[in-house]
Amino acid sequence: MVLTQNCLKFLKKGLVIKSTGSWYLVKDTNGNKYECRIRGKLRLDGIKSTNPIIVGDNVEFEIEDIEKNIGLIKNLCERKNYIIRKATNLSKRTHIIAANVDHAYLIVTIALPETSTEFIDRFLVSAEAYRIPVSLIFNKIDIFLKEHLEYMHKLVEIYEKIGYKCFEVSALNNINIDILRNKMKGKVNVVAGHSGVGKSTLINIIAPNAKLKVGELSEYHLKGKHTTTFAEMIEFNSGGYIIDTPGIKGFGVIDMEKEELYHFFPEIFKISKKCFYYNCTHIHEPNCAVLKAVENGNISISRYNSYLNLFHKEDNKHRI
Ligand code: GDP
Ligand code: ZN
Repeated sequence: MVLTQNCLKFLKKGLVIKSTGSWYLVKDTNGNKYECRIRGKLRLDGIKSTNPIIVGDNVEFEIEDIEKNIGLIKNLCERKNYIIRKATNLSKRTHIIAANVDHAYLIVTIALPETSTEFIDRFLVSAEAYRIPVSLIFNKIDIFLKEHLEYMHKLVEIYEKIGYKCFEVSALNNINIDILRNKMKGKVNVVAGHSGVGKSTLINIIAPNAKLKVGELSEYHLKGKHTTTFAEMIEFNSGGYIIDTPGIKGFGVIDMEKEELYHFFPEIFKISKKCFYYNCTHIHEPNCAVLKAVENGNISISRYNSYLNLFHKEDNKHRI
């Protein structure tokens, strides 16, 4: 069959799996990949963003050159969620990192380096605010000493009680990686963590085609420069994606009112319904059910401290 020019102009549906800011790699439903550009104006629901289209976006595109696999993005489909950060410190514009994320994972290490509970809780709060299901991956269990393991088990107990699934793994020694790979199967997953926690090692073992450089301190090099980094989706054989977010430890900046912060601590939110005052901040009010729960151990002190620290942040903006 000879394809006429008209046939080529039909819109195809595709998933953006890579973005450089000027062109986008789009995968169609048959798995074919096209290098696409944007022409014309895309309607973007009032999002002020430096980058209109990002990895994870579902788009409609038309083929411009079928031999060279070149296309043109015409429409952006509605996003179920997206994660953002500010473009630069001075700018009010945001830089969107990824869209349509099914699950977020934070890699945590108890030692080398130590991840603080406050950092964990901030990450969880932002995932809740973005409405992205989130789990914790405790990596490097192969080198943890007895006291590290004890501390890790305490944290696992705290977080699983709230409802956050925890995975105890060693990316280096391939311990419990299968469980994780299975969980990530068929989903768009975001993986984040402090530099050095083993993110590259973990992504490489789950998705061997990723071939990320281990031990490369790219995040340090990027700091201070106005380099815009673009996320990439890494596909793994069993069917699923990991979005690697270079230069990003966490989730960016979320603007929220102090008063609504507790909505994103699920265990605090649940108990808060029993507080005497409907507008209780759970800090000083009499007959506060949250304070009572902290006292009797139903809410962990470290979680409550994270709540207080975030609450008292001056500008209400929680840089993660
Ligand atoms: P990233 O900065 O988070 O991407 O971390 P890398 O993957 O580059 O790993 C940082 C260092 O931690 C490297 O020396 C890795 O070999 C090491 N590492 C990663 N995962 C593990 C693990 O499960 N156990 C141990 N012992 N070391 C690990
Ligand atoms: Zn209260």
